[in-house]
Amino acid sequence: MSSTRPLVDERAIPSAPSRQAPCALPDTPLAEMRAGIDACVHCGFCLQSCPTYLTLEDENDSPRGRILLMRSALEGALALDDPSLETHIDRCLGCRACETVCPSGVPYGHLLEATRATMAETRRLPFVARSILWVFARPTLLATAMAMSRVLRATRIPALLSRLRGRLGFAMAMLASTKGDARSRAYTPAGEATRGSVALLLGCVMEGLLTETNRATERTLTMNDYAMVEARGQRCCGALHAHAGDLREARNLARVNIAAFERSRAQYVCANAAGCGAMMKEYAHLLASDETWAARAASFSARVRDVSELLVAAGPRRGGPVREKVTYDAPCHLLHAQRIADAPLAMLRAIPELEIKPLEGAEHCCGAAGIYNLIEPDTSNTVLEPKLRNIAASGAELVATGNPGCLMQIGAGLRRSSIGARTVHPVDLLDRSYEVLGDRVIG
Ligand code: SF4
Ligand code: SF4
Repeated sequence: MSSTRPLVDERAIPSAPSRQAPCALPDTPLAEMRAGIDACVHCGFCLQSCPTYLTLEDENDSPRGRILLMRSALEGALALDDPSLETHIDRCLGCRACETVCPSGVPYGHLLEATRATMAETRRLPFVARSILWVFARPTLLATAMAMSRVLRATRIPALLSRLRGRLGFAMAMLASTKGDARSRAYTPAGEATRGSVALLLGCVMEGLLTETNRATERTLTMNDYAMVEARGQRCCGALHAHAGDLREARNLARVNIAAFERSRAQYVCANAAGCGAMMKEYAHLLASDETWAARAASFSARVRDVSELLVAAGPRRGGPVREKVTYDAPCHLLHAQRIADAPLAMLRAIPELEIKPLEGAEHCCGAAGIYNLIEPDTSNTVLEPKLRNIAASGAELVATGNPGCLMQIGAGLRRSSIGARTVHPVDLLDRSYEVLGDRVIG
């Protein structure tokens, strides 16, 4: 879609405020982030990076427009339950592409979370969102839900229903796409355990539906001289809760995880899901006002690494040849939230004969955004469309991306299209490359 059409209400965009209006929402998360709102100078540099602005062509669905809505709510010009505030804040993907390009350092991700947390005090989330968040905070229920999903996946019903129109068909395609290529590999990962100890965040969806990718993560780290240790008692990272505005539950989960990883005595906390890694790196911010936990949270966040960071710090060791054409799609929470751009590509470059194809728009969101694709399916699909077109144009057979939401969203889109490509986590490809060498010594 053209991005040069005139905006609906462009003339309504004010210049930066010359003085601060009184706060109408004292003692709320949004009030605490006032300095972040004030940092926006309304320059508009962020507009062309925003997938919802480019798709919907409405200034209110741009970062600048949303920050103006936040300011209006904070200063009392808009009620918290005003439909225009809800609509445009709900439509934000939270991809944080606007943060990457903002010259004023506006902490947009924090502003969005604070806005949603403030709005949560006066409204209820949709039933689907509430149910998902409730289950993800309860380990036994979550394990049951994941086990049922695996049983359903094994029946092949999801694969058969994945072409159905609407939400059901898309949800089935997402589940079917988790089957993937990952599997147990026939090699013994041999390393010297000299690079320090690592505990893996198992993750709700990663361990529930992409289990073999977790095992591949452990094998590839072992092959690269890390010593894997367990962090028992760990839980959901809380990202879905924080993004939906449930900061209380997000903080509860963060405290449980900090304690669990402290007990493991691991030097590094590893995430192979970009969204979870970004969240755990934010625990320091999340618990900054908690006198008991602030220092522990800061120390924990400083030890969090994406799996690609750990592997690239070790080389990574080269594997055997894998003759496939792959393209790389950057998860927003790796590229924009964690600012990790090259490490996953460096992992792929360690695989001999793997042909890496460029992907236009690899830095743009795929529309997954946690549970966004379930509660805002129309916008999510519209954002996904150009991604699929670019994948088709790349000529790749595989799309590597390091986040379960992106793996499922793009995987579902590919399944429902006629594009002959499938998704894979970069560690699964490196693991496959190590299997090619078998137990031979590698350099
Ligand atoms: S680029 Fe930053 S300062 Fe400029 S309008 Fe966007 S958020 Fe505001
Ligand atoms: S987080 Fe993403 S969707 Fe939301 S305003 Fe920023 S660029 Fe746009």
